[in-house]
Amino acid sequence: MNKIIVANMKMSMTLKEIGYYIKVLNDKLDTDNDVIIAPSFIFLPYFKSDKYLTCAQDVSEYESGPYTGEVSALQLKSINVKYTIVGHSERRNIFHENSAIIHNKIKHCLDNDISPIVCIGEDKKERISMTTEQFLRRDILELLQDFPKEQLENVIIAYEPKWAIGTGITPTPKEIDETIFFIKDIVESAFKVDVKVLYGGSINKENISDFKKLKNVDGFLIGGSSTDIDEFLEIIEQI
Ligand code: PEP
Repeated sequence: MNKIIVANMKMSMTLKEIGYYIKVLNDKLDTDNDVIIAPSFIFLPYFKSDKYLTCAQDVSEYESGPYTGEVSALQLKSINVKYTIVGHSERRNIFHENSAIIHNKIKHCLDNDISPIVCIGEDKKERISMTTEQFLRRDILELLQDFPKEQLENVIIAYEPKWAIGTGITPTPKEIDETIFFIKDIVESAFKVDVKVLYGGSINKENISDFKKLKNVDGFLIGGSSTDIDEFLEIIEQI
């Protein structure tokens, strides 16, 4: 089955570098998987191809109005952006985003036909105290509450343990598959929705073969390794 592969390029690259990246991507990408590219806001309009879709890395919690520096869901929709990452752990930790803010962002995405890729994941402390499942359950119920089922069907979840992001350390394949099964089960029992769940955290060309066949994993959110176009294409090829 096709996998969803999302490149979270974070704050990387200049215009010249992104030009090279796009050229190689457009020339060489050849896959049946669903590839989604999330560059910095300013580069979104440069990514134009029928081989992939684009994704913002964030969106404003406000619908519209005088919010200097913000980008609204409606503005993203107007340039044909189909996905937006929300609740990434870097936004939560560095920019202090809480559940209420993330919930607003999900709402604006859904109201504008943008699929939010909602990031959830435990910290080291929950893992050590074996409270990961409780933590994930609470986060899912808070973030997805109050939306109609038809809207929730457009949500994608990315399971990204915070301790695995950018560290080179990952859970075992079995742990990932079991946790994603657990996430799907909560969403199904609470909201009657069959949600797609991606794994993210230190995926690279060396370890992708360990994870690509996992039954419950619908795809991958790839940070650091997606910013090197050769490595990104190699990962896609392996999947
Ligand atoms: C991310 O930031 O979403 C991520 C998965 O990063 P990395 O692949 O670098 O761990």
